[in-house]
This record gives sequence, C-alpha cells and structure tokens, in this order.
Amino acid sequence: MRILVIGSGYVGLVAAAGFADSGHRVLGVDVDAAKLEKLKKGVSPIFEPGLDELLQRYLASGALEFTLDIRQGIADADAAFICVGTPQSEDGSADLQYVLAVAAKIGQAMALRPADARPLIVVDKSTVPVGTAARVHAAIQAQTDRAFEVVSNPEFLREGCAIDDFLFPDRVVVGCRTDFAESVMKEIYAAKLAAAKARNPEGGRWFRMDPPSAELTKYAANAMLALRISFMNEIANLCEEVGADVDQVKEGIGADHRIGRHFLNPGPGFGGSCFPKDLQALLKVGRENGHALMTLATTVEANRHQKQVLALKVRTHYGCKAGTPAPLAGRRFALWGLAFKAHTDDIREAMALELIESLASLGAELVVHDFEAMPNVKAKIGDRVRYAATPLEACEGADALIIATEWPQYREADLQQIAGRLKAKVMFDGRNLFRPEAMKACGWTYHSIGRMAVLG
Ligand code: NAD
Repeated sequence: MRILVIGSGYVGLVAAAGFADSGHRVLGVDVDAAKLEKLKKGVSPIFEPGLDELLQRYLASGALEFTLDIRQGIADADAAFICVGTPQSEDGSADLQYVLAVAAKIGQAMALRPADARPLIVVDKSTVPVGTAARVHAAIQAQTDRAFEVVSNPEFLREGCAIDDFLFPDRVVVGCRTDFAESVMKEIYAAKLAAAKARNPEGGRWFRMDPPSAELTKYAANAMLALRISFMNEIANLCEEVGADVDQVKEGIGADHRIGRHFLNPGPGFGGSCFPKDLQALLKVGRENGHALMTLATTVEANRHQKQVLALKVRTHYGCKAGTPAPLAGRRFALWGLAFKAHTDDIREAMALELIESLASLGAELVVHDFEAMPNVKAKIGDRVRYAATPLEACEGADALIIATEWPQYREADLQQIAGRLKAKVMFDGRNLFRPEAMKACGWTYHSIGRMAVLG
C-alpha cells in the first residue's frame, strides 16, 4: 500500500516508521522544515525508544520518505493518515484547526489523482471529538469531486513504548461506513494484527464500528485510565491519613480480576500531551450534549489537587507558613525527572513544571535533572532552574531530593552516594521508587505517596 502520514510528531513518526515496517511505501509530511531536515538525515526530532533505528532502516531502504508537500504523494496514495496536533482551545474543546487545514489541503491536492482512481481513504488518527469525521469529509468535499472516504482510526500508543504498542497493537479500532474502506484498513494493518496475535492470542483484535463510536472510544479510554489514576491517588492520600499502606491496598484490589493490576500506581498527578486535553475535550462534548460527565469533572479536579501534593509535602516539612514571603529562600532542591513520565522527552502538562513554579515562587532554588527532557525544559523556562549533567550532580549541596519521574535509573541510584552529596538525608519521592523500611534503616527522612512518612 502507498500511505501518506501527515504530521510527523510523536504519533505520525511512529505510524510512518511502523507502516514502513509492515512493507508499505510511506511518505511522511510535515510543515516544519527544520524537523524534516533532521528526519531526512535519519535523526528523530523526538525521543522515543527504538524510533531512530526504524527511521534509519526504512529511510535507507527507500520505504520511507519525508516531504513538505502533501501533493508529492497524493496521486497514487491508497490512504492518507492525519496525525497533526489537536491542542486544547480556551473553552476546553479540541482545537481542530490543524486537522481541518490538512483536510482542505488534501481536498485541493485530490485534483492530482486520476479521475478513475479508487477512493482515497482519509484517516483521522489525531484524537478528535465526535463528529470530526463528518467535518473532515465536508472540508475535503468542498475542494474536490474525486472519490474518497473518511475513516476514524484512533491511536492508543503510549509514549515511551510507542513502537512496541504500534507494532503489536492489542486492538485496532476502525470507524468506517463501507466494506471497501474496511478492506483497505485491514490490508494496512494485516501484518501488525498477525504479529500481535502471534505474540498474544488475546491481542491484535479488530473492531469495526461507525465513525462516531470510534471517535468516542478514544476519549472514553483515556478518561477511564485517568479516572483510575485519580482514584488511586485519592486512596493513597487517604492511606497517609489513616496509617494504611497504598502498596498493600493496591495488591489487594489488583488481584480481583474484575479490577486488574494495571494503572493502579499512585503518583504526583497525571500530565502529558493527551489525558489533560482529552479530558477537557470530552467534558466539553458532554456539556454540549446536555450530559455533565460528573465523574470526569471530579477526576480533573482531583488531579489538579494531586499535582500540588509534592509541593505541599515540601512546604509542610519545612514549616512554611501561609503569607510568609519566600519561606523557602536559601533552600536548594535537587529535582529528578522533568518529563511527564519515564522514557520520553515530552514535558507537555508535566507535573515537574508545576512543581518548579510552586517551589520557585516560595523562593527555593532548583537544580534539575532528566535523562531526555532537559532541552525541552530549557527551551520553555530557560534559566529559571539550574541543569545538572548527572543525577548526583543535581544533589550537590541540596537540602533535599525530590523525584517527579519514574526513570528506572533513579530507582537504581546509590542511596549512600546521594546522601554524600545532599546537606541532609531528606527525600520527597513522588513515584514510590524506594521502600520506606529500607529508607528508615539508612536514617533517611522519606516522604512518598500513600505510605507513612519516615522521619529519620
Ligand atoms: P505533535 O505535536 O508531536 O505532532 C504534530 C505534528 O503535526 C507536528 O510535527 C506539526 O509540525 C505537524 N503539523 C501541524 N500542522 C500540519 C500540517 N498542516 N501539515 C503537516 N503537518 C502538520 O502531536 P502528537 O503528540 O503526535 O499528537 C498528534 C495527535 O495524536 C493528537 O491529536 C494527539 O492527541 C493524538 N495522540 C497522541 C498520542 C501521544 O502519546 N502523543 C497518543 C495517541 C493519540
């Protein structure tokens, strides 16, 4: 198949490389010339484990190319995947300007297709609200009389393990109206579904549905996951009050097969490029249709609170009084982890950024470290913090260590070496990387999430 992938960000790049890996000919498109220059040299503009290797392999084989010009590949394309951003608008809704701009461009370029070409399958892979497939259809139809069909194919990949998720999908959801569209989509995904099934007979499932159901499936999936996280965070906060241990509670409820073990880890609030904006967009869809999604509204509110939990623990530990100007002046903190989660450089809505704002506004100095996200943070907040080349360097002379992202290397760090660099053995661990008993035995003061504080 010949596939256009429009938008070369986290989703578009993984999809482009992933489709090339299935034996398709792929043309990646973006409007960002600097990004494309890098890509043409086989350098990924984002950090995603395994992506560089795939890009280099298929650029070299010729299966994958990149261009600024959508018209270059439209004439003989079987499908065009729209993978551009859908950021949050001021009113919470998904901003569809990029999606609709791409639709208009596809419409204009359709004239390059032979009049008797089979219908182009235009695929909404961006996360878009119910009704967008119809709007994309209208935007294309306004420009052309050539045949096409719009299909909704939401993406469920997780940053940090996106390649594996894309190459071995647990399910592919396709919202379409005709058997022809389904057959094209099946051919595009055939190799991936087979690979996923070979790995796990429960995986590689195919769901054909109507476009609105596919569009809603994506939002409902993210909302359900966010709800689990916020629920566990609230249980964790309660654990601290009543002397329970959230790790034990988690084991106890996760063993129930109706609940399962996934997404039960408490933490310092969710961030990222998807959950926050997708929840707002779904809430907006609910309001517009006269259905206030109450559990979702509470999830958002609980998460807003949770993103302050680490700062609150720091303030409480140092006895910061409300109304005192700069109560943390003269204190320095090492902050490990800036990305919204491990294995990515993505800092969109990252909890660490809010933490930095909170602590800096109280007068604290911050020395930060992350394995991939520091360039993005530097581009966003510049010299508001100091950047350390290594985790240990960040700890040098700091009053305490704060952990915001669960990079596995942090879990393996040598506690004695850390203690040797800090002024005091004090840690605020937003990811529960260490065991309270072990910390107690080594004389640390250790604050984590949902477990009793250890006062060394
Ligand atoms: P991104 O911001 O990383 O990438 C979007 C890309 O589109 C950018 O490179 C931008 O330059 C390009 N672009 C914008 N306008 C364009 C145009 N007219 N023509 C060609 N390219 C254009 O975004 P992302 O994280 O890849 O997300 C894309 C969509 O996928 C969003 O709707 C998002 O919600 C959804 N999604 C994201 C994830 C994720 O983990 N990042 C997972 C599932 C779904």
